[in-house]
Amino acid sequence: MKFVDEFRAPELIAKAGEEIRKLADPNRHYRIMEVCGGHTHAIYRFGLKDLLPANVELIHGPGCPVCVLPMGRIDDGLSLAAQPDFIFAAFGDMMRVPGTHGSPLEYKARGMDVRIVYSPADALKLARNNPEKHVMFFAIGFETTAPSTALTLVRAKAEGVNNFSVFCNHVTIIPAIRAILDSPDMRLDGFVGPGHVSTVIGCRPYDWIAKDEGKPVVVSGFEPLDILQSIVMLLRQLRNGEAKVENQYKRVVPWEGNRAALRAMAEVFELRPYFEWRGLGFISQSALKIRESYANWDAEQRFTVPGIRVTDPKAAQCGEVLKGVLKPAQCKLFGRECTPELPVGALMVSSEGSCAAYYNYEHRKPITIANAATH
Ligand code: SF4
Repeated sequence: MKFVDEFRAPELIAKAGEEIRKLADPNRHYRIMEVCGGHTHAIYRFGLKDLLPANVELIHGPGCPVCVLPMGRIDDGLSLAAQPDFIFAAFGDMMRVPGTHGSPLEYKARGMDVRIVYSPADALKLARNNPEKHVMFFAIGFETTAPSTALTLVRAKAEGVNNFSVFCNHVTIIPAIRAILDSPDMRLDGFVGPGHVSTVIGCRPYDWIAKDEGKPVVVSGFEPLDILQSIVMLLRQLRNGEAKVENQYKRVVPWEGNRAALRAMAEVFELRPYFEWRGLGFISQSALKIRESYANWDAEQRFTVPGIRVTDPKAAQCGEVLKGVLKPAQCKLFGRECTPELPVGALMVSSEGSCAAYYNYEHRKPITIANAATH
């Protein structure tokens, strides 16, 4: 399969592993953060950690949108949807995320009208097909998914679909990276930059990480060879004392981003002054809200939102895992009280959550030349 097989070729994977071992200075310990949850998933799924020398440590970053959403926002969304003749529509990976009184799926079991949709456009279609009900789309995601929400709102406004709204939880990646770099207990040597988000924002927004913070960034694809090549590129920069932004994922990520997508976002969204992130606290200008000109389609402007704030269960260490301070298995609840079947924290729900990825793949054998192509 084009763009898959060649990025899982066993001999190339073995070669990249060898190059990493050659480049890594045995007298140094490297801490490299993969920002994106998709990378975390691939690292565990393909057993890539086992190809790295012990002194090249991968730290899981905050790039899983379901994981960083505070429980209060889920409670807020579900409380709005408890109104009569209301349909709560969301992506499938939101369905089992626990709120204070249960997940959307549990609310559905209690009789609330909860639907899984594959896109915001599907939710809009649901509104057209159910004119007697109000359909609220619970929007989450980084810049990857925000353009499709924006375009759906443009369409809803143009068509005058008034029984549709969006509960907007879109967040932006750059302030989260800044918060991590500002965190006093965090030491990082470089970043495997997010692939999906960069298809929209491009590579330029990471310039400051290289220039001001002196940390290299390599925007990476999601296949095993992509990630290993990105680590090679990072180690090369570190060996040469360089810090620059490089694009390993050129086949998908344009350096300047996707201008049409950015225009759609600018038309519909503006930055919130601040937004709460699970595990990272309040981060200024880190999330999007719907502009006044789209108020009629903004659930938060149209309805009264309780603004619920909830602290995570005391024993749950999602915050530390999200910041990369703890590894998933170091959380006291991991694998006992908290499993993918019965999750306590969101990191155990989403396939991009580091706890779920670690739980699902930790027993997997290390990748070998023989099995690399078949995974
Ligand atoms: S194991 Fe569960 S509670 Fe612990 S950090 Fe992971 S998701 Fe959170």
